[in-house]
Amino acid sequence: MKITFFSTKPYDKEFFDKVNQDFKFELEYFETHLGPHILNVIVHSDAVCAFVNDTLNAEVLESLSKKGVKYIALRCAGFNNVDLEAAKRLGIRVSRVPAYSPEAVAEHAMAMILTLNRKTHKAYNRVREQNFSLNGLMGFNLYQKTIGVIGTGNIGTAFAKIAKGFGAKILAYDITENQELKDLGIEYVPMDKLLSDSDIISLHCPLMDSTHHLIDKESISKMKENVMIINTSRGGLIDTKAVIDGLKSKHIGYLGIDVYEQEEKLFFRDLSHTIIEDDTIQRLMSFPNVLVTAHQAFFTEEALHQIATSTLTSLSNFEANNEFENPNAVLV
Ligand code: NAD
Repeated sequence: MKITFFSTKPYDKEFFDKVNQDFKFELEYFETHLGPHILNVIVHSDAVCAFVNDTLNAEVLESLSKKGVKYIALRCAGFNNVDLEAAKRLGIRVSRVPAYSPEAVAEHAMAMILTLNRKTHKAYNRVREQNFSLNGLMGFNLYQKTIGVIGTGNIGTAFAKIAKGFGAKILAYDITENQELKDLGIEYVPMDKLLSDSDIISLHCPLMDSTHHLIDKESISKMKENVMIINTSRGGLIDTKAVIDGLKSKHIGYLGIDVYEQEEKLFFRDLSHTIIEDDTIQRLMSFPNVLVTAHQAFFTEEALHQIATSTLTSLSNFEANNEFENPNAVLV
């Protein structure tokens, strides 16, 4: 099987080449994003391997189908960038990596909380300049604070367990409740109660029509003053303009985002020598109480190894018409 990769970075190549020693597929790598502009490079490929910001709308899928592509393997968990209906209509099978390392993302969410709270990023710079003053670095104890978790799937569950380890009270909201968390004393509450009672709110649900702009002017108005919002899930969960207003009015005390609504034009690239035209991200980055990371929550050795293994296993299963060990890996 020939697999054409898009949005490839050196670390993708390193892990896929290593894992492919067991599969012996023909791998072809392109650094560019997948979209209508690049389809001509796909020749005699059976499968396309894509990442979070690649475009897999009906137009792209139709062209892929005409070129004989039978499989799409997403090397990520989220699949909001794929038109699954179109894939089904065209008979293209689609897989994803449902749970490569939930702990990687959950631990990054907690790292963002601790950084924003204890200001270690500022302390690091300060001390290097021989400024040993503590003014402006005061944080708060997580112990006995209330942390709201929206979405308690793989990542939300891992995050809730970590947060519980700090002695915080955990409130959860999901459309399906996880008994394992309830057994640990984590309380499921209606969304409005989670919003009104939480000192910290961490988003772990997927981006869908029903969750688009879940955090907007109205939901922010229900939150505690000085609330901390963490988003390691998908940028579209947050109405960025409403959050900027919340930061300016000081209703939102801290914001940590690993994902951003318009991230496909920015993230995963070195733009240090260019003029950024996106005024919204520039405004966000100008706040001292905002921490932006560029979709790195998944980025651990363990996760990359698991992503490569799971992606190539799915393609092997498609080819051999095998049953999937984890049915959640199959989208179409
Ligand atoms: P998952 O499918 O295991 O869990 C998602 C949970 O959200 C499920 O329990 C589901 O019931 C719940 N949910 C669905 N609709 C909801 C709603 N309207 N309100 C509340 N909850 C709802 O997914 P996961 O593996 O935990 O991943 C969660 C998200 O994290 C993914 O969709 C992806 O977008 C994001 N993600 C980000 C990174 C990163 O590097 N930043 C890496 C992996 C995944």
